[in-house]
Amino acid sequence: DRLSPEQYLARLNQAQQEAVTASPEGGLAVHAGPGSGKTAVLTTRVAYLVEVRQINPEQLVVVTFTNKAANEMKLRLCKMIGPETVDKLVMGTFHSVCVRYLRKYAKLVNLASNFLISDRDDCLAIIKRLLSTLPAIPEKLKKEMKPNTWLEYISRCKSKMQNPDQYRVERAGDWDQDKVEAVATMYEAYEDALNKANALDFDDLLVKGLELFRDHPRVVAKIKSVLIDEFQDTNSVQYDIVKLIASASNSLTIVGDPDQSIYGWRNAEIENLEKMLKGEASPIDRRVRKLTRTLRADFKPIRQVFLEQNYRSTGAILGAALAVVRQDTKRINKSLTTSHPSGSSVVLHPAPNAPDEATFIASTIRHLMAHLGGLVNYNDFAILLRYGALSRNIEVALQKSGVPCRMVGGHKFFERTEIKDLLSYLQLVSNPSYSPALARVLNVPRRGIGDKTQAQIFDVASQKRESAFEVCVRIAKGQSVVSGLTGVQKKGIKQLVEIVRDARKRADEGSDVASLIDLIVEKIGYRAHLDRTQSHDAAERWENIMELKNPTTADLATAADGDEPGPQQFDEVQIETRSQKTKKEDEDLFFPDDPEDEEDEEEIDMPLASQRATDAKTTPLEVFLATSMLATDTDTQEAKGDAQLQKVTISTCHAAKGLEWPIVFVPACEEGTYPFYRSVEENEIDEERRLLYVAITRAQSFCFISHAAQRMAGADMKTKRLSPFVETAKRDFPSLFVQKLQKISTKTREETAKVIGRPAVDEAIAAQKVADAATLPVEPPIWDASAPPAGSRNYGGYGSGASMYASQGRYGGASQFGS
Ligand code: ATP
Ligand code: MG
Repeated sequence: DRLSPEQYLARLNQAQQEAVTASPEGGLAVHAGPGSGKTAVLTTRVAYLVEVRQINPEQLVVVTFTNKAANEMKLRLCKMIGPETVDKLVMGTFHSVCVRYLRKYAKLVNLASNFLISDRDDCLAIIKRLLSTLPAIPEKLKKEMKPNTWLEYISRCKSKMQNPDQYRVERAGDWDQDKVEAVATMYEAYEDALNKANALDFDDLLVKGLELFRDHPRVVAKIKSVLIDEFQDTNSVQYDIVKLIASASNSLTIVGDPDQSIYGWRNAEIENLEKMLKGEASPIDRRVRKLTRTLRADFKPIRQVFLEQNYRSTGAILGAALAVVRQDTKRINKSLTTSHPSGSSVVLHPAPNAPDEATFIASTIRHLMAHLGGLVNYNDFAILLRYGALSRNIEVALQKSGVPCRMVGGHKFFERTEIKDLLSYLQLVSNPSYSPALARVLNVPRRGIGDKTQAQIFDVASQKRESAFEVCVRIAKGQSVVSGLTGVQKKGIKQLVEIVRDARKRADEGSDVASLIDLIVEKIGYRAHLDRTQSHDAAERWENIMELKNPTTADLATAADGDEPGPQQFDEVQIETRSQKTKKEDEDLFFPDDPEDEEDEEEIDMPLASQRATDAKTTPLEVFLATSMLATDTDTQEAKGDAQLQKVTISTCHAAKGLEWPIVFVPACEEGTYPFYRSVEENEIDEERRLLYVAITRAQSFCFISHAAQRMAGADMKTKRLSPFVETAKRDFPSLFVQKLQKISTKTREETAKVIGRPAVDEAIAAQKVADAATLPVEPPIWDASAPPAGSRNYGGYGSGASMYASQGRYGGASQFGS
């Protein structure tokens, strides 16, 4: 029972329909506030382009900000165009889109298609190893600069597309030439290490992707349309990628909201949206400059659609959010209205300290669960934090009152020890020369191989110019390449080599990832290893391993090309890193019949099978590893079946971008948190304000802002003041904030049902729930809005002062908050 185009278009308003059905030719920019249906428009436009405009889904590139957002979009699209078609779309974050193309066209950029992705831990491990082995780095700098700092320097170069020599040239006049030279040397060695391991770090994914798109127009020529969500948070490399991949088709849809730009620290450029609208460029080389000229001509004027209707939040919530963001005087005014009722005012709760604040949150959740009468469940609550560490008190309080919760963007599933151990084994199976993985598991389970022996093995490897795993293979074969190994160590290494070899053989025979995990876990005796080394939470860790096997985890990348595995040679642990062929020959491999730089129209209709025949082979294991490594970037894998269980979400504000919940708590609204104490420059403070704006605008029906008078900072108890953003909003619009939640009446329930789009619950059920709630062990706090709130002098009672609602009445239809 799929929706027809008529049906899914009918769900949208006129401006949204205009955006969805705009011609795919040229540029389309949807520039609008939170909850106005930008993502809904983008999703529907994908369906429209496929079904009505007949664009081949394999030639549509859709970029989302997180993997989670991509998965949600896929779910929605399944109801419109069906799962088979959804699977063909190239959809995901910039990183995963690049991985997809890099695998397919690996040869064109001198990569082996089975390249691995190094996460931050792995990159740090490489730097640490180099710090202890590189003679050219002055001891002084080794002491001064942490591995993190080296990585930062390298990352900065990469995001500017600078190689070590270009970095040297750029910094030639600097006073600290010692350091410049050391960074360049480290950068060279680091690149060499990644190359040898056939691995890319996160920066490389974008940089290599950009190279591929820049140097191979025939790859880009296959892309028929590009759509990008959350465009305000693209950084300059990503921006250049957009320009490149949209250049051939001249078909680009971007949606975004500068008010929600919150990733400046990741070099995101709020101006990108403006730049794009004006046709300005940040050229990286001649080719891009030429392209930019074309783009400027082609995309001008970019068609713009403004959406002014908010479908998410009540008038009260939208009003409070706008009262915060309007303090940014540099922002461009946008009009945003909601047709939802005003609803319950935003509650501003002062707590004496953090544990009390946490108790307030827990008891409010209990209270609403009871009094909203079955209308909501725990999934409908979110607690949005400025940073993860704020969750401690809250987790404790929720647990005490029996409220289940899940953490998002906090402790990351794929970063857990046991998961990293298993992933490292799988990485070795996929690519034995990947040394960070070998370093990690050489002594897991214990094989009597300490740091010293490990260093010896790696030294021999670099002397012989081969991978550390190859050295292990030699040891396993009985060659005495490393002196002084004990019998236990030799036996352990032999066992490791055999396990990797066996698993590799299974993988080549087409085993799925779950059975590879079973094999490894059994052969290395991982359960016993956990019991020995992690006795206190061995069971939980074991569960996580089982979770790793869960197909929903393994199949995150349903859309990735999962072809049958090709035959792979194990014994020669050689990895092809450099192609001997010329670029032209390589390209011909992928585009056998392409007339020179001409678009091959026929290919569009070519049956999938024959098109696949020219693709590089990607095994399920490689897809699995890529997805797992990328998941550490922005997402958290939820525990097994967690999505079905009803739990309160605890998330960082950053990770909440684009999402919505009926009830949202924003704790720790204090100076030093919003804005974060380290933000000093004006643009950083603006960004902090936008972050609070993003947090508040996630709420549909109820929003609770709280702050503590005292909070522990490290070992010290610090006195805290209300966030100046909230202080100012409250001063300007006192009536928008109340100190206590009004009584939940039948009317509140009806309104809530409408706002969150659910049928109002039967009164009988509601009554039953309230009765059940009466037996709850935790006393809900006293909620009384009729009496003036205790702190009314400070907080301004409801309805006093210059109310934004004054001219519209409390529930008077559309409330206008043009700011
Ligand atoms: P954000 O800026 O926070 O990412 P957004 O502009 O992307 O927000 P969406 O998430 O697409 O907004 O939509 C917000 C909510 O409004 C969703 O629940 C969506 O289903 C709903 N919505 C969007 N358009 C309409 C419409 N025309 N009628 C009813 N509901 C709508
Ligand atoms: Mg959105």
